[in-house]
Amino acid sequence: MRIVLLGPPGSGKGTQSALLQEQYGAQHVASGDLLREAVERETELGCKAKQYMDSGRLVPDQLVLDMVKERLLRPDCRKGFILDGFPRTDAQADELARVLTEEGRPLDHAVAFAISRDAIVERLTGRRSCPNSDCGRTFHVKFKPPAVDDVCDECGTPLRWRDDDTEETILKRIEVYIEQTKPLIEWYRKAGLLREIEGAGAPAEVFGRVREALASN
Ligand code: AMP
Repeated sequence: MRIVLLGPPGSGKGTQSALLQEQYGAQHVASGDLLREAVERETELGCKAKQYMDSGRLVPDQLVLDMVKERLLRPDCRKGFILDGFPRTDAQADELARVLTEEGRPLDHAVAFAISRDAIVERLTGRRSCPNSDCGRTFHVKFKPPAVDDVCDECGTPLRWRDDDTEETILKRIEVYIEQTKPLIEWYRKAGLLREIEGAGAPAEVFGRVREALASN
């Protein structure tokens, strides 16, 4: 399975990716997670990316493309991958299609999640994540609270509020999504790969819709 997940921040791409990885064995590759790791490790890429991420803008295409192309060549992506948060621009979608065609492993589907602006803000302002890169579980203060306040259920690491999950930056990220990423829905529709899903509701409910959409022709 080789798919890309499209949708605004907070539409459930990360949560659905984890469920897809569990069910189908394809590797979850999230460009935002890769960038946050680079920022954390203070690599050259991380230092360049940080200013864009903190203000909710997109990191320049070339930086993200090099990073994702390298990631997709690793052995764990041979059985398939779920791209979460990538591509986000026409240039990224063009280059991804070119590389995958050249490697003889084109995409099977592009799944687009739709969700209201109010639901996005509610989901993201309450989101808490485990910063341990071997764990990475996400929680929500209202919808999926951890057993102990602000501590990861899985590995005991103190949970973190993402720097870009403030209301001001969330609104900027939604604006950037509408301007630069939403047009990709048409890009994938024309390519005959698009599956559109209602993203509101509990994770299991949305996952049922995803599985149905992937099974249909
Ligand atoms: P995410 O975790 O997907 O919400 O991404 C967090 C931030 O990382 C975004 O607001 C961007 O600044 C940056 N980012 C993630 N993926 C990309 C991408 N494909 N292209 C450009 N910037 C990205």
